[in-house]
Amino acid sequence: DVELRAPLAVLGGDVRVPLVTGGEVAYAALDYAASAPALRRVWDDVAAYAPYYGSVHRGAGYLSQLSTDLFEQSRATVAGFLGCRPDDQVLFTRSTTDSLNLLAAALPAGTRVFVFETEHHAALLPWQRAEDAEVVCLAAPRTPEQAVAALDVALHGAPKGPKLVCVTGASNVTGELWPVRELAAAAHRHGARIVLDAAQLAPHHPVDVADLDVDWVAFSGHKLYAPFGSGVLAGRPDWLRDAEPYLAGGGATRTVTRGADGRVDVQWHEGVARHEAGSPNVIGAYAIASACRALTEAGFDRLVEREQALLARLTEGLAAIPQVRVLSLFGPDAPRVGVVSFVVDGWNSSHFAAALSAEHGIGVRDGLFCAHPLVRVLLDSAPGEPGECGAPDAEPGERSLNAVRVSFGAGTPAEHVDRFLAAAR
Ligand code: PMP
Repeated sequence: DVELRAPLAVLGGDVRVPLVTGGEVAYAALDYAASAPALRRVWDDVAAYAPYYGSVHRGAGYLSQLSTDLFEQSRATVAGFLGCRPDDQVLFTRSTTDSLNLLAAALPAGTRVFVFETEHHAALLPWQRAEDAEVVCLAAPRTPEQAVAALDVALHGAPKGPKLVCVTGASNVTGELWPVRELAAAAHRHGARIVLDAAQLAPHHPVDVADLDVDWVAFSGHKLYAPFGSGVLAGRPDWLRDAEPYLAGGGATRTVTRGADGRVDVQWHEGVARHEAGSPNVIGAYAIASACRALTEAGFDRLVEREQALLARLTEGLAAIPQVRVLSLFGPDAPRVGVVSFVVDGWNSSHFAAALSAEHGIGVRDGLFCAHPLVRVLLDSAPGEPGECGAPDAEPGERSLNAVRVSFGAGTPAEHVDRFLAAAR
């Protein structure tokens, strides 16, 4: 534990918060799935570099060269962290949402996109906006095998043309792991591409793009202990090379001229620069690379082992509270990361979460977690019923319309889980 904590210590352990009952208490951050605290190591790396940055790819001065080197080295570090293939591209974006929107903007004409209704909205919605693309939304499966079979059938019946599957690696609601390798094999069997939403998987598990055989992967820095407004889209270069640039602007262009007809003629870059117009977030990219290095050096195996021990402590504790129902798509024994959602009989989830904060200094999340269709399936509620906010108190035996989520990771002490369980009881 001590060895693991040293390279993976997080900031914020010293934050004290006032309680409505009087006095104050050390804050227990149990909302890593929304945003994880920064690793001290990331903070120190950024602090050492931050006073000395210059423009990336744009200046001749020493600090510009330094920043350009750090930015490109960060790209290489992320490629290594993700186990990318030699010709894969790593693009720096703002977030997972941004990465998936970028890919949606790069779909070949007529692409059919296959998603399960269980996805986070960031993985469910961007495809709808893509011009000339069609979305096939598959019903929530109740086992990983059903997921693979349903995708197989849907792809088998699909007309010819480009196809993309988008799937999460770990659910931001249930924490359950999805059968990514099997889904990738099914996609490729039918000539489809697959993008992995690793926003919740990457902070908890090694992601190996080549080994999983996914075409693209997206994740966010702020969930991977690097909270500086940065994200990643990594994978196959071909669709990205053939697409219009995501943003039009400086850095993405090879040449720009005023044409004879009075129009502006542009030749765009073909490599990563094509989709990285504007001055990039070099500190964000560097922070992600720093987090990747820290996680790799600490050893994911030990991180997983420790997290699973905390998870067992949490789920056993919750199982002992009769009013609590843990939400699960694949069943209580399905493997999951340190993300658990539940409802409490007789409690409105928002009030429950607010009481944890005000009376116990514990930060969790409540609501529908930007995954409305999934939470409706899990709670067996209908569209249009109040959910995210303003839901009335559920009486004992009544159905809840939103849920509470507890999530943790590197740096979470067992004491935070115990404090949460004591408060929940
Ligand atoms: N996918 C999943 C599974 C997520 O949990 C989240 C964030 N909750 C996102 C995508 C979107 O991430 P971001 O808000 O950083 O863009």
